[in-house]
Amino acid sequence: MTTATAPAETSETATRINEALKTQSPLRPFTGVDRCDRCIGAAQSKFEFKVGHIMFCGAHMRTNLDTMLDANPVSFWIEPCELWSIKGVRFPKQGKVTAGDGLTDS
Ligand SMILES: [Zn+2]
Repeated sequence: MTTATAPAETSETATRINEALKTQSPLRPFTGVDRCDRCIGAAQSKFEFKVGHIMFCGAHMRTNLDTMLDANPVSFWIEPCELWSIKGVRFPKQGKVTAGDGLTDS
């Protein structure tokens, strides 16, 4: 029997993403109709630069991630469901939703 263990070391890329996640807005900066700039896949990430922005699907985000971060984006946003695939990134806990149980009046 084998047991999966988390990698001990964290890459520079993961460190930068973990740092950015601390202040990342929970609101995604694109909609379901936005497409990857490299293929027809749905946008899963957005990298904002002073001269414009670029959006990628999950596959192209992973392919171009290091290049994008090295280009010092003003900001970037990656879909939480894609973050788990980046080694060493701490998947953010989703905020607890307590409203809508229909029993409390607040
Ligand atoms: Zn793509």
